[in-house]
Amino acid sequence: MSQAEAIRLAGVTRHYRTPAGLVRAVDGIDLEIDAGATVAVVGPSGCGKSTLLSLLGGLDRPTSGQLWVGKQNLATLSDPARATYRRTHVGFIFQSYDLLPFLTAVENVAFQLSLQGELDGHDHCLELLDSLGLGDHADKLPDQLSGGQRQRVGIARALAHRPALILADEPTGELDSETSRSVMDLLLEAQRHLGATLVVVSHDVGVAQRLQRVLTLRDGRLVADSRSDPKGQPVA
Ligand code: ADP
Ligand code: MG
Repeated sequence: MSQAEAIRLAGVTRHYRTPAGLVRAVDGIDLEIDAGATVAVVGPSGCGKSTLLSLLGGLDRPTSGQLWVGKQNLATLSDPARATYRRTHVGFIFQSYDLLPFLTAVENVAFQLSLQGELDGHDHCLELLDSLGLGDHADKLPDQLSGGQRQRVGIARALAHRPALILADEPTGELDSETSRSVMDLLLEAQRHLGATLVVVSHDVGVAQRLQRVLTLRDGRLVADSRSDPKGQPVA
């Protein structure tokens, strides 16, 4: 388990060269995120939310700028060091349908741990599934589970190695409002339990309101940054 660390972006860009021209997916972002903070990233489709999340998680590298997580600068880290950062420090949660279809729920979770060389984590994975209310579903394949159950398996998988940074990209995008709420309950509980930093991309106002800080992107730029009090009311 790694410790949550402050994140700092200075002039971060991520540009793509395409046949149609240069796409400025992330276009000069300066930002600091405190260790252990909960942050929503909102904005219209195509504004750069997923690209920003990929940069924070070390899945992708900035075209220019500096991106510090604690003392590590992800912009200059070697590919193997970035892979280690990703594997040990980060838990990714995507939409609910990205489980490996040929592995059971518990095998999907254990697979994540095996990537870190932890081959005997089966009991830990079962406990984790149990704590997420999936104790009776551990041996089912993804297509035997509901959307909400699959998303909880995805959360268990993302948390199995106790990441210090939890990154969720539209984690409730395909879920009804009640299931969305319980998925957010689980993410926030895990964030508190692990002392992790949590960054959630969402279109859902209800999701954003439950996080301490809301970052709004437009055309790859940060256009608003608001903080809420613990009850979810805007401070200013
Ligand atoms: P969001 O998650 O807010 O919908 P994205 O970060 O996925 O936005 O994308 C931001 C912009 O970058 C969009 O215009 C998108 O088309 C473009 N983009 C994303 N990934 C690529 C890529 N691999 N190659 C070219 N353009 C990309
Ligand atoms: Mg996206």
